[in-house]
Amino acid sequence: MSQFDLELAKIQKIYPGGTLAVEGFDLRVEKGEFISFVGPSGCGKTTTLRMIAGLESITSGDLLIRGRNFTNIPAEQRPTATIFQNYAIFPHMTVYQNLAFGLEVRGLPASEIKSRVDAIIDTLELGDVASAREAALSGGQKQRVALARGLVTKPEILLLDEPLGALDANLRKSIQEELKILQRDLGITFVFVTHAQSEALAMGDRVVVMNAGRVEQISDPFELYTRPQSGFVARFIGRNKIISGQLAQVSDGRAQVQTNAGLLVGVPGFDTSQASVDAEAMVVTPSEYVELMPHGSDKGDAETNLVSGTVQSVDQVGQVVYVNLHVDDALEVRLETHREMIADKGVEPGTVMDMRWKAERSTVVLGA
Ligand code: ATP
Repeated sequence: MSQFDLELAKIQKIYPGGTLAVEGFDLRVEKGEFISFVGPSGCGKTTTLRMIAGLESITSGDLLIRGRNFTNIPAEQRPTATIFQNYAIFPHMTVYQNLAFGLEVRGLPASEIKSRVDAIIDTLELGDVASAREAALSGGQKQRVALARGLVTKPEILLLDEPLGALDANLRKSIQEELKILQRDLGITFVFVTHAQSEALAMGDRVVVMNAGRVEQISDPFELYTRPQSGFVARFIGRNKIISGQLAQVSDGRAQVQTNAGLLVGVPGFDTSQASVDAEAMVVTPSEYVELMPHGSDKGDAETNLVSGTVQSVDQVGQVVYVNLHVDDALEVRLETHREMIADKGVEPGTVMDMRWKAERSTVVLGA
């Protein structure tokens, strides 16, 4: 048997009418992994999920579940269950009946149905509302019923399409945590679609970033946050500072990027076979690693980047402070920091300050 629960090989979807929604999608998911799909509206997340579920046909490519080819197998014969944003709870049935329904359709014996429904009601703490109908449920309870209905069929893979989208921010956060714990305890593979990058990063063991029907990057959340591999990911994920320019020098695993106004920024750990001098490139650095220092207080060295700029404005929102710096005509930087990080450093409009960070924290991304 395959070591992978789910394999997508060169999956493509062209809708009738010609829209190319998904192209060259490759992914291998291990058993028990929590995979998030994230990307802007229309990038193909839902289409991909629906192809895995069998709710949408696959134009070309292969879909394997536990090593078996399911590309052309209908939805009801796949070991998957899908949870949608609108929950799709039957309003005329009680919670208990909603949970039993999918098992009755499958023709399971009554005793088996009862024991499975009782177990899932217990796991998701739905005992108090087992005989309630949808209209009497809170948003969080509806979400749990939808989840229970997916899990009661004992799927090998649970597919979730923006399942928390209808919840308010506080509830969303607590259900995120519950869901993550539940997934870990059950050991079931989850594929979770969201357009919210913070949710994708908080939930996923790995995150698939999609853009315009293609996979941009598949990484664990920390890698994605700290080492984006494309300009799209650098802009879409995290709060990166991006310095654009051209490669001025590549040698000994080190890149130097020069902005149009002549600023040079060095980055170690660069695969120098990737590109040659003059290629368009960006130095991408997570905001958290950039420190604001009084100008000239640090001399800098090969391991430390120092970039000075004139403070244009300082905007305070609670404890968070946004500092806009004019570096040169090619570069304005908006830095997000905390009040205590800049206290007594004389950060005010008109002052020249140094941004300082460890060069190894940056990643060079090719392209403009
Ligand atoms: P959202 O976050 O808005 O749900 P998404 O990333 O899930 O977006 P999809 O819904 O998969 O994106 O859509 C991908 C592309 O396919 C879009 O261009 C969309 O307009 C198109 N599309 C989706 N469903 C259909 C359909 N049934 N027929 C034709 N085109 C479709």
